[in-house]
Amino acid sequence: MTTLAPSLAVLPLEQRYARLPEPLWARAQVTPLDDPWVVAWSDDAARALGLDPAARRDPATLEAINGRRALGVEPVAAAYAGHQFGVWVPRLGDGRAVSLGEARTPAGETWDVQVKGSGRTAFSRVFDGRAVLRSSVRELLASEALDALGVPTTRALCVVGSRTPVQREEVETGALLVRLAPTHVRLGTFEYVARSHPEHLAALADFIVAEDLAGAVDPAAPDRYQRLLEEAARRTARLVAAWQAHGFVHGVLNTDNLSIVGLTLDYGPFAFVEAFDPGLVVNHSDPGGRYAFDRQPEVCLWNLGRLAVALAPLVPREAAEAALEAFAPEFARTYRELMRHKLGLAAWRDDDDDLLLSLLQAMADGEADLALTFRALGRVDPADEASQASVQAAFRDSRPWAAVAARYAARLRQDGLDPAARRAAMDRVNPRYVLRTHLAQRAIERAEAGDGGEVERLLRVLRRPFDEQPGEEAYALPPPADAPPVVLSCSS
Ligand code: AMP
Ligand code: MG
Repeated sequence: MTTLAPSLAVLPLEQRYARLPEPLWARAQVTPLDDPWVVAWSDDAARALGLDPAARRDPATLEAINGRRALGVEPVAAAYAGHQFGVWVPRLGDGRAVSLGEARTPAGETWDVQVKGSGRTAFSRVFDGRAVLRSSVRELLASEALDALGVPTTRALCVVGSRTPVQREEVETGALLVRLAPTHVRLGTFEYVARSHPEHLAALADFIVAEDLAGAVDPAAPDRYQRLLEEAARRTARLVAAWQAHGFVHGVLNTDNLSIVGLTLDYGPFAFVEAFDPGLVVNHSDPGGRYAFDRQPEVCLWNLGRLAVALAPLVPREAAEAALEAFAPEFARTYRELMRHKLGLAAWRDDDDDLLLSLLQAMADGEADLALTFRALGRVDPADEASQASVQAAFRDSRPWAAVAARYAARLRQDGLDPAARRAAMDRVNPRYVLRTHLAQRAIERAEAGDGGEVERLLRVLRRPFDEQPGEEAYALPPPADAPPVVLSCSS
């Protein structure tokens, strides 16, 4: 039996990142918020971190998060740069996040414990260093939901609310999000070091290889920097394949928001696709659609190209090109495998690509809800035409489905799988519950009124996305037709 720490205040922490030369980071502190309260807390994330879920009720936990209690190591903020909407920005960095330190769990995992919304750091530029409750709640819900779906992501331990006013388009209140990741290093961290401190580039690359990619890249191999680039390409390919399969739109895929170890990172104006629209743009600040749903794979590859440029002093051009060539096949392989499971097929046949495209086209034409459609496909029995009704119900206009229905049934007949067994397997990959924007919005409004209960209930539902959960059926439904639209932008 492993013992869990009873309070964040006594969780043993290291600060590996501070072993790197100082221009790569700066000392930082959380500037306390007024009247802090725990809005929501993930018991699962606590356990992953080696923390007893009951630590939530320990006052010292809140003091440690809110900068009122020193921990064993000194907190830091990291420097990075990035291409934002394709434009080079030489100096960004953790402008509103502070790493308290890294916990090493009994299972041998390392988690960097970051407080986002910390107040100003050396990298805040002209901004206030704060995060608002709205975006902090969205990040907690989304990261815990994606993790439950099996999509690589940073985790979230909790959101802390306050009475501290924060000016955005309106006055909102400041919040803290405690997020966890093996590392928060980004592609943009490499870009920053390559341009501003090239003498430290090898140190950063060796640090990531040794600390975060051990097992995947041999730290002693002469070609380890090429392998680092290739591993980043493979992980990013698998990540974006999972986004495409589950209908996750990140919204701001700048190089500073892409993790070097292939995690979903820096949640802003993200959304899950509901009524299927391949070109969905969720970010109001992205009128050109650079980060549209169906452009995510190509934009990730573009970002990896910027990483290759940053690594140029360590990886010759041909080797870098070879490393990036891993991306496309890894993406295709992962995406097909996920879609094979989502469609309930025994194996992927040549014309299944076309079947999938026809289905997605029908879903776009018929405004089909993505999650409901795939969940309903598990209920199709090729021997029983009436079983198609549940799929039809997921479409606003079910006529486009009619053209695909016969083809899908014929394809299932080719496999000849037992319908009940196929359905059970499909229900383990096609979620009943995804984070719908209107559900998050409702939970945020309650939290803004001082009640975190709805955030916690939604979090509980989203942690078991594949289970039926009697009594929670309403959380599986798309927004009512008269629901007010939620506008999402970079302002958070
Ligand atoms: P984001 O758009 O959240 O990925 O942030 C891009 C950059 O702006 C990062 O360097 C952030 O740390 C910084 N940033 C965003 N919002 C704030 C804020 N309110 N205060 C300080 N820095 C911020
Ligand atoms: Mg960011």
